[in-house]
Amino acid sequence: MTHHVFVLGEMKDGTVRSVSIEALAAARKIAGNHPVTGILFGEHANENSDIMIQHGADEVITADHQALRQYTTDGYSQALLQVLPDNQPIVLVIGHTAIGKDLSPRVAAKIGMGLITDIVSLEVVNGKPIFTRPIYAGKAFEKKTFKETSGLVTIRPNNVEPLPKDQSRHGKKSHVQVNIKDIRTVVKDVMKKAGGGTDLSEAKIIVAGGRGVKSAEGFKPLEELADVLGGAVGASRGACDAGYCDYALQIGQTGKVVTPDLYIAAGISGAIQHLAGMSHSRVIVAINKDPEAPIFDVADYKIVGDLFDVVPHITKHLKDD
Ligand code: FAD
Repeated sequence: MTHHVFVLGEMKDGTVRSVSIEALAAARKIAGNHPVTGILFGEHANENSDIMIQHGADEVITADHQALRQYTTDGYSQALLQVLPDNQPIVLVIGHTAIGKDLSPRVAAKIGMGLITDIVSLEVVNGKPIFTRPIYAGKAFEKKTFKETSGLVTIRPNNVEPLPKDQSRHGKKSHVQVNIKDIRTVVKDVMKKAGGGTDLSEAKIIVAGGRGVKSAEGFKPLEELADVLGGAVGASRGACDAGYCDYALQIGQTGKVVTPDLYIAAGISGAIQHLAGMSHSRVIVAINKDPEAPIFDVADYKIVGDLFDVVPHITKHLKDD
């Protein structure tokens, strides 16, 4: 089956996000010997074309327009529909990010193709891509494919292994003019939250705190450990509800779903709704003073103790090394 595969690259702070690099690896697998085309929008599109090519794209199409400088559903969907070929079998891969989740149903509906969201792995059987995605809040997985040839998939960050950067790869680059009109929303300003550095869903290391941290101040030792490890700080809903931290940090069924290489849970009991957001992390370390805490059921390393002793101790050792 012929698949021309497209990847919409997302950018953050002027560079391509790691989930888009992972999307390129997924696209390469789906495409086989057929072409993979990256798409980049906005003022930093041209300067990021090479990164897309070095990570698997054969060609990159860029477009810039005032309406593409900040993401809006109208702007991006109109531009995408102009860039994608008409009446040809295609697969479009987008990261399962806030933008991907917003854009993908609209584009799939406009084109009239199937949509499979939040995929964590894929295989190609007899030329047909089969996608695996979690269901029932991560307790089970289902395999899906498209009924038609064309389709759109969103991939969960941190699950598909990116292709190593190959600086010897060269590809075609084309810049297209897009006509965007009737934008119904205007982004006037983007305000960054203090401390909102690493995106939780893309972080390789997460140090998460629960109600056991006891106060906003109690997050300090966790922040210090995350800092030493180069990771991000997350939280349980218990900690958010108690006002110890912002809801942007919440991990779980009604928060962010994360799959870092290392997840350190400190003072988190391990309620089912929290596990739904982190239990597929590669290595889980749990620190809890209650040896019966359910978080220990999913932990690879179990530390029974007071987090205010254990966490600074680990930080000190890492700093000394
Ligand atoms: P607790 O359950 O109170 O646990 C605190 C833990 O800290 C305990 O295990 C205790 O032993 C330990 N502890 C205390 N002091 C220390 C110390 N000094 N050192 C070490 N350990 C210590 N929760 C989420 O996290 N994410 C979600 O997305 C989410 N969605 C939900 C959706 C619904 C519809 C519902 C009903 C609930 C949801 N919840 C979610 C809430 C969830 O059920 C739990 O209430 C919540 O996860 C508990 O947070 P916690 O583990 O921080 O607090």
